[in-house]
Amino acid sequence: MIYISKFKKDIWPLYVPPLPDELFSSWIYRLISNHRVNSDTFVKNYLHQKLFERNNDIDDFPKEEIIKTIKEHTPCKTEELIELFLSSYNSSIIENNTPEEISKSIQFLKTKSFNNRRNSIVFCPGCLSKNTPYFRKKWRLTTSIVCVECNSYLLDYCPGCNAQISYWNNKKSGEITSHISHSIAICKCGYDLSNFFSPLSPTPTEMEYQKYINSTIENGFNLHTQYSFTYLNTLLFIAYMLKKMIKSPRFKKRFDKMYPELDITIDVPLYDWNVIQKRQLLPIAYNLLENFPKNIKEIFPKKHTVRKEFKQLPYWFEKELLFR
Ligand SMILES: [Zn+2]
Ligand SMILES: [Zn+2]
Repeated sequence: MIYISKFKKDIWPLYVPPLPDELFSSWIYRLISNHRVNSDTFVKNYLHQKLFERNNDIDDFPKEEIIKTIKEHTPCKTEELIELFLSSYNSSIIENNTPEEISKSIQFLKTKSFNNRRNSIVFCPGCLSKNTPYFRKKWRLTTSIVCVECNSYLLDYCPGCNAQISYWNNKKSGEITSHISHSIAICKCGYDLSNFFSPLSPTPTEMEYQKYINSTIENGFNLHTQYSFTYLNTLLFIAYMLKKMIKSPRFKKRFDKMYPELDITIDVPLYDWNVIQKRQLLPIAYNLLENFPKNIKEIFPKKHTVRKEFKQLPYWFEKELLFR
């Protein structure tokens, strides 16, 4: 390590600063990669081994001991470090009364951790091809389906080998084992994710949907509500209900009348949607919430049960279903 008198600290010599909207795991990967040492060695000697405990999504919350170590050896400020975690969405899209609520909201709103084989890291190939490749926090939100900056679909698999992406190489013990020496944008099969160019572009509705979601998250409110987490909760509830209701011929008829050009006979599981399945459901859910409550009233059944993961539906939504 190098002693830097300005910071009065022993700094990791090949420090790299976090980039805008970067995810903690992405930054740590780039930091280790820049040091060109074995990642195990780096973690054991310089970071807390607890960082890579099994079933621990390191991007959820900042852990005190890890933040302390990083602060001791980098010029990073606490505020900068806190921003790298999903919990920094606190209050804008996450219910934040108690730590349990924050944790539940994160679990609900994010794509599953990279330990879960069914879901993996989501990325925009266009963003990865710009300057220094890194993975963004907003890609881990379940509501993210397109990149509005690049006008491009997000992907959650490698176009080279069709496998799911994970830049960590976790062993069963939970320890990272690979010698990290290549760019974060290179899949284990050798394919450079930043080279992918999709022949398909997002539709205007998908773009409109994503812009609305992004501004809801940024502002913490939208036209429906002052509490954006209630909007996102409702949006995901509608997507879930769509999938369920499509099995009913009566609903299907009403739906086809409302959207004659849309084919909604999609085969999507009730949960754990991949990014392509979300692309099919979420913009329709968004659209149904437009002209609120007209579309919803026309299409939704009066009686429905809300699964507990959706928590309480907000009053502005529920009252329109109940009182008609
Ligand atoms: Zn992009
Ligand atoms: Zn691959």
